[in-house]
Amino acid sequence: MSKVSSKLEQCNVCKHEYTSTNVEAMPGIKVYVCRNCLKATKYNFILICMSCGSVYIRNKKLVIERITDNELKRAYLLCQDMQIIQGIDMCIACDPDGILFYMDNQKIPSC
Ligand SMILES: [Zn+2]
Ligand SMILES: [Zn+2]
Repeated sequence: MSKVSSKLEQCNVCKHEYTSTNVEAMPGIKVYVCRNCLKATKYNFILICMSCGSVYIRNKKLVIERITDNELKRAYLLCQDMQIIQGIDMCIACDPDGILFYMDNQKIPSC
């Protein structure tokens, strides 16, 4: 067992495990992600609402298949191997109209 020296925080994704691993979900905003959830980002885009903390997990393959815009599709394909946890300002729970922005515009993941 390796000694864990850094402070453990509750995983922001599953809200179950404790971890010292964090990623930047938005410029300057860190979220804690446990090993299991980090593994999930290999196959899923994970969106975290910065307003209420809700987590949305979307299958990368399904997202990419649904994109009709070729340029956007290419951008997603380039990013699909990266671990992506994206912070969003609002989600459907806080703002039912706001989520449409993220779905309709198919925001390009920042990588
Ligand atoms: Zn987790
Ligand atoms: Zn929310």
